[in-house]
Amino acid sequence: MLYTGDMGVQVRWIIGAPRERFPGVKTVALIVAAGRGTRAAASSGAPKQYADLAGRPLLSYAIAAFLDHPGICSVKVVIHRDDAAEYAGVAAAFGDRLAPPVVGGATRQESVLRGLQALAGQRVERVLIHDAARPFVSSGIIEGVLRGLDEHDGAIAAVQVADTLKQANASGIIAATVPRQSLWRAQTPQGFRFDDILRAHCRAAAEGCSEFTDDASIAEWAGLRVALTEGSNRNEKITTAEDLEMAQRLMAAETARATEIRTGTGFDVHRFAPGNEVWLCGVAIPNDFRLEGHSDADVGLHALTDSILGAIGDGDIGAHFPPSDPQWKGAASQRFLSDAARRVAERGGSIVNVDVTLLCELPKIGPHRDAMRKAIAEILELDIGRVGVKATTTEGLGFTGRREGIAAMASASVRLPIVD
Ligand code: MG
Repeated sequence: MLYTGDMGVQVRWIIGAPRERFPGVKTVALIVAAGRGTRAAASSGAPKQYADLAGRPLLSYAIAAFLDHPGICSVKVVIHRDDAAEYAGVAAAFGDRLAPPVVGGATRQESVLRGLQALAGQRVERVLIHDAARPFVSSGIIEGVLRGLDEHDGAIAAVQVADTLKQANASGIIAATVPRQSLWRAQTPQGFRFDDILRAHCRAAAEGCSEFTDDASIAEWAGLRVALTEGSNRNEKITTAEDLEMAQRLMAAETARATEIRTGTGFDVHRFAPGNEVWLCGVAIPNDFRLEGHSDADVGLHALTDSILGAIGDGDIGAHFPPSDPQWKGAASQRFLSDAARRVAERGGSIVNVDVTLLCELPKIGPHRDAMRKAIAEILELDIGRVGVKATTTEGLGFTGRREGIAAMASASVRLPIVD
């Protein structure tokens, strides 16, 4: 199929055999996340690309999609200067697989230019430019653009217009029905040869042309031939709070299909010794005793750490932090807990909820319960509503009843991708 667009640029629907991979061709994805769009803002007040989408920041979906694609060598994100902290939180989950971010400019066009300039001199041959606010980009869409780029100066994901288009006059009365046969809605990713698009962007900036709304229009303006490849209605840009709500439902359904919930349990005991404070669930409670142990002996966090490790089938606290190793002497147990959380994230999972029960005659837990929940919620980066802390005595029975020590049990539920 051949179409001729408004600007006289010939575009072609790409249908063909799977693209032959050229491992030598350095293709980088540039994700533009520098916008200030606040119509669908994150709860923190940060822009929509950091909003929560089914338990993960929206931006992380696009990053993951490109990092996971074998045709993409690396991913670089263009961020707003005010978002460095938010971005660091997103990037942490990907470790060193992400190139350092670059700070964007006042407009999208300027942000892309800065991103391209930051990649210059790195022998990048092809670049795929993508909007952070399109979290549903699939490997098929990326593949299509890469394949299009094998044969053309540029290739972009696009969707043929399905609605009937009306042209209206100033009073909202239809003036004409616009033929839609040759009309497409441009999406991203948009792929180009790196030198071509950098040159086109630089020229547009030098000539003060700043009205372009996507990179393909800059490429067209510069005389490049840009092909259309198959986008998807799901690959929509999230702009409004309503878009975000729809995306939530879609992503939740997708996540539920591709993941499973696993649970784990943990149990721990530490004995009392003379001292002046006892650490329980991340909170220091002044007392005339302490708990004995190699780390800070936080029996609650130890049981909790084991429950998370149990849920992902990854050994136990003693295996990862051997008590025989002097470096853990007096260590803060939150270190162990955050390491367990990191192991969950490493598997692409997330913690659904955790619950701890402390068994002791003293200290009294009630007055500290909320501080404990808050401490655990902060370490695990969970909503406090997903953290339970309870306590019981054992009616004077057993070692806890004789006030010889404290026991703790815990359970954790973890959502993990299903791996066959
Ligand atoms: Mg212990």
